[in-house]
Amino acid sequence: MTRLSAITPSGHAHIGNHLGAISRWATQGRPGDLYFVSDLHAMTVSYNPARLRVLSRELLAVLVAAGIAPEQVFVQSDLVRELGALSWVLECTCSYGEAARMTQFKQKSEGQGMVRLGLLTYPVLMAADILLQGASEVPVGDDQAQHVELARSLARRFNSTYGELFTVPSAVTPPTAARVRDLADPTRKMSKSTQDTAGSVFILDEPDLIRRKIRRAVTDGLDRVTYSPDDQPGLANLLEILSACTGTPPRDFSFGSYGEVKEAVAEAVIEELRPIRKGAMDLLADQEELDRIRKAGAERAAERGAHRLTSALRLAGVA
Ligand code: ATP
Ligand code: MG
Repeated sequence: MTRLSAITPSGHAHIGNHLGAISRWATQGRPGDLYFVSDLHAMTVSYNPARLRVLSRELLAVLVAAGIAPEQVFVQSDLVRELGALSWVLECTCSYGEAARMTQFKQKSEGQGMVRLGLLTYPVLMAADILLQGASEVPVGDDQAQHVELARSLARRFNSTYGELFTVPSAVTPPTAARVRDLADPTRKMSKSTQDTAGSVFILDEPDLIRRKIRRAVTDGLDRVTYSPDDQPGLANLLEILSACTGTPPRDFSFGSYGEVKEAVAEAVIEELRPIRKGAMDLLADQEELDRIRKAGAERAAERGAHRLTSALRLAGVA
C-alpha cells in the first residue's frame, strides 16, 4: 500500500499548505508513503526558470524540516528521463478526447494567450508519476479526482492491451482539513500562485512579517467576536487558523476585540511554524546536506520504478 502525494513549487509554501497537507503528511503518513516536489508540473504555465529551481529546493527543505522522513521524499525532475519515457507510452495509451475532457485543462486554459501543450498532457505525466512508483492510493481534492480517474483508465488499458503490469491506483479523499483563506481577501483560498502576497503567510516568513500580515488581515465592521463564517468570513478564517494551531474548536475562543484575536493568531502561527522554518533554513544553508538528501531520494525513487519502466517499454514493443 503506497500513497503518493505531491506539491508543486508554483510559489512559496504557505500556512494553508502546512495545515491542510504538509503537517498531516508528517504526522499521519505511513512509512511506505511517498511525497514529491512536482516541479515538472510547474512548467505547464508561464514561469521563471531560476525561480523554479530555488522554489523546488526550498520546498524539499520544508518537507524534510516538517518531519517527513527524507527517504520518502524526492524531486520530480530528478526522474525526468524515466517520467518522460513513461509519459510517451501513456500518451499513446490515452485518447485525445480523454485529455481534452479534463475540466482543469478547460479552466486553466481559458483566456490564456499561449496555452502550453503540456497543460493538456500534464494529467498523463501525473499518471506516469503514479504508475512509475506503483502507488495504490492518491489522496486528492476534488480538483484532482478526475486526473486520478484518468490514471486508473490508463493503467487498466495498458494492462489489458499490452500485459498486466501497473497497479491500478485509487483516489482517496483525505479527511477535511481547514481550508485557509487569503487574509486580504477571504473570498478566495490562500494559494502559492497568488501574485499579491499581502494575504499569504509563508512558512519561511520571518516572525515580524507574519505579525504584520496578520494585523492587516481583512475583518469586518461588525465589531463583535463570534465565529460566523457566512457574515464574518475574515474573522472566521483567523479563528480557524488559531483552531488548527491550538486544537481548540473555533467557537470556543473568547476574545474581546479583533486586535486580541490577531495577536493570538500571530503568536500561534509563529510558534507553529518556528521549528519548520528553523529546520528548513538550516538545510538551505547546508547545500551539501540538502544535495545528499535530494540525491538519495532520487536514487530510491528511480530504483523503485526501474523495473516498471523497463517492462512497460518491452511490453509496448519498443525496448
Ligand atoms: P497553487 O496556487 O499552485 O494551486 P496551492 O497553494 O493551491 O498552490 P497546491 O499545490 O494546489 O497548493 O496544493 C498542495 C496541498 O496543499 C494540497 O493538499 C492542498 O489541498 C493543500 N492546500 C492548498 N491550499 C490550501 C489552503 N488554502 N488551505 C488548506 N490546504 C491547502
Ligand atoms: Mg492549488
